Amino acid sequence: MIILVDQDDVIADFNGYFLTLWRQKYPNLPYVPNEERKSYQTINDYPENLADKVKDIYYQEGFFKNLPLIGGAKEGMEEIKNMGNDVFICTSPITKYDYCVKEKYEWVEKYLGKEWTTKIILTRDKTLIHGDYLIDDNPNIKGINKPTWKHIFYDQPYNINIKNDLRLNWANYEEVFKKISQG
Ligand SMILES: [Mg+2]
Repeated sequence: MIILVDQDDVIADFNGYFLTLWRQKYPNLPYVPNEERKSYQTINDYPENLADKVKDIYYQEGFFKNLPLIGGAKEGMEEIKNMGNDVFICTSPITKYDYCVKEKYEWVEKYLGKEWTTKIILTRDKTLIHGDYLIDDNPNIKGINKPTWKHIFYDQPYNINIKNDLRLNWANYEEVFKKISQG
């Protein structure tokens, strides 16, 4: 099978690192703990008057490069590959791509190894990419095609209450893959 895996908040901890930097830089401003996040987009969980400050955090040089690895993600990616699947990282760079694009590659090399950099697919429209499954935390993926992949939700607080037949995290992915490979 072809398995597409999203990068931010599936293998790289965007939400966690955003919050760390936000609280360091603005200790007196409100913040949203990750378990209380309601929206997939960080910016939508913050008041409108803080939007520019929110964006400045992930627009800055080094943000994408320094995201922590989500626990279990590397082992999970390797194991899904070793089950005989073709695994790709399918990720959408932010529109202000200055640092993001290069740093996404640097991140993959640093945490997953150089070989995985050949498996990166950058696209703003994931419906254009062919695959059997896409593992993604975004509960509402839109694009111009009807996707060929089935969407497996990666568990995050902002999607946990949305019904979807398939979901996983790096603690239970083996069971999920057992199920889907049995059809
Ligand atoms: Mg994501």
